[in-house]
Amino acid sequence: MIKLKEIKDSVLHLLFPHVCTGCGSDKINNETVLCMRCMDAIPETNFEQHPDNPVEKIFWGRLRLAGATAQFYFTKESLVQHLMHQFKYKGNKELGLQLGRMMGEQIKKSGRFDVDALIPLPLFPAKEKRRGYNQAAVLCEGMAEALKIPVLDKTIIRPQHTETQTKKGRIERWKNMEGKFILSDSSSIRNKHLLLVDDVVTTGATLEACGNVLLQAENVKLSVACLCVASR
Ligand SMILES: [Zn+2]
Repeated sequence: MIKLKEIKDSVLHLLFPHVCTGCGSDKINNETVLCMRCMDAIPETNFEQHPDNPVEKIFWGRLRLAGATAQFYFTKESLVQHLMHQFKYKGNKELGLQLGRMMGEQIKKSGRFDVDALIPLPLFPAKEKRRGYNQAAVLCEGMAEALKIPVLDKTIIRPQHTETQTKKGRIERWKNMEGKFILSDSSSIRNKHLLLVDDVVTTGATLEACGNVLLQAENVKLSVACLCVASR
């Protein structure tokens, strides 16, 4: 019986080779999309363990946070850049789930993020439709497995640009909409410590805009977690 399964597995592997998204190696088990070597090669920041880390500093004086972190360094021409491209533009959702689980495990281990629920930073609806998913929501799904807390993906929404806003110039209109978020269900987050999640943090402007809207709900505590941060 076991033999039959082995034969079936090797035939399947020939037809649909299961290889590492990072390096193409087939030394990888079926439950994962990254081999051990690639997982070890992703440069970790360990920011989750350190108060006053560089990601927290981005938000000082701008957004009232209990804590903030980004798990990996993003550098050009790197493994992380390749993975981000696969995840964001090539529809590799499995990879996002695995990266989310890695984020969740690290955050849990740090003991610094006593959070009750995950909030993915919403994408514009048209962008999400084009991409097939919101990458932040996929990360949250993976993180939720590790952290055992719910994902609230309907709490805050990001309205689509509308062509009726014709009075403003295109750039100005875009800037206006970039920072626009609407709290659709404030009762679901009342008295909670929320972890707002996105894939990359650079200037923090979008997270700041979204976070400040979440903080309008009654007695909300807020933290931020991103998959990666651009290293300078
Ligand atoms: Zn690999």
